[in-house]
Amino acid sequence: MTHGFLSGKTALVTGSTSGIGLGIAKTLAQAGARIVINGFGEVDQARSQIEALGVASLYHAADMRRPAEIEDMVKMAASQWGPIDILVNNAGIQHVAPVDQFPVDKWDDVIAINLSSAFHTTRLVLPGMRQHNWGRILNIASVHGLVASADKSAYVAAKHGLVGLTKVTALETATTGITCNAICPGWVLTPLVQKQVDAKAQSAGVTVEQATRMLLSEKEPSMQFTTPEELGQLAVFMCSEAGNNIRGVAWNMDGGWTAQ
Ligand code: NAD
Repeated sequence: MTHGFLSGKTALVTGSTSGIGLGIAKTLAQAGARIVINGFGEVDQARSQIEALGVASLYHAADMRRPAEIEDMVKMAASQWGPIDILVNNAGIQHVAPVDQFPVDKWDDVIAINLSSAFHTTRLVLPGMRQHNWGRILNIASVHGLVASADKSAYVAAKHGLVGLTKVTALETATTGITCNAICPGWVLTPLVQKQVDAKAQSAGVTVEQATRMLLSEKEPSMQFTTPEELGQLAVFMCSEAGNNIRGVAWNMDGGWTAQ
């Protein structure tokens, strides 16, 4: 992979104002791609971090629960920069509760943001990718796209669905220069996981440090968090020529979680 090999390409990374999305956006920017940022976090901070890497950025505030806003985001990017070349479906939320107590509105939000939004972005960017016969679609699923954990029914259902959508999209594009793959992280210390650590510390009456070790030791044999930068490097690899025939995989980066 040559430095800057993605220059001239446009990447849309949903949910890229923090955490994994911002990490992947920065790594794609380092490889030369211009970035369409989306999400509800610190927008100015995200844009200045991306632009400091020498590439342009655009921002769209689409709520990924709303198909009309997603369509508007894809149209805005196309009108400014032409079709999207790299789509990273990353926006996601978590809600934890047993299935018989799971709030219906939370179920709907998790499915809409973590699964249906990827259907909408994918259907909207594919025609432009087909025109150029090149594209990369990366779905940020999770180990929870491969295995389950108690109290995460909506999240596990959405992520398993996202792995399924990945495979179908990969098959439908198999004879083209467009690839579609899922990335399945284990624990990554982002705001999404920090909330779970804090809740564990409170419920178990332990320090945040102890709760962090408890969280890792339950599932992740390496006892290490995967970092957004490591995930970004995997995304960049999948965008390289070496990724031309990687199609429909669910690639875990999980410290051994799913090897057990
Ligand atoms: P995060 O909370 O740091 O980031 C989530 C991003 O999504 C933010 O930019 C947020 O503003 C955005 N977002 C949330 N709701 C949105 C909406 N309705 N419309 C548009 N944007 C919205 O979380 P993260 O940990 O970086 O998670 C990113 C992705 O990685 C998620 O899909 C998550 O399921 C997945 N993931 C995370 C972990 C982990 O351990 N952190 C592990 C596996 C998979």
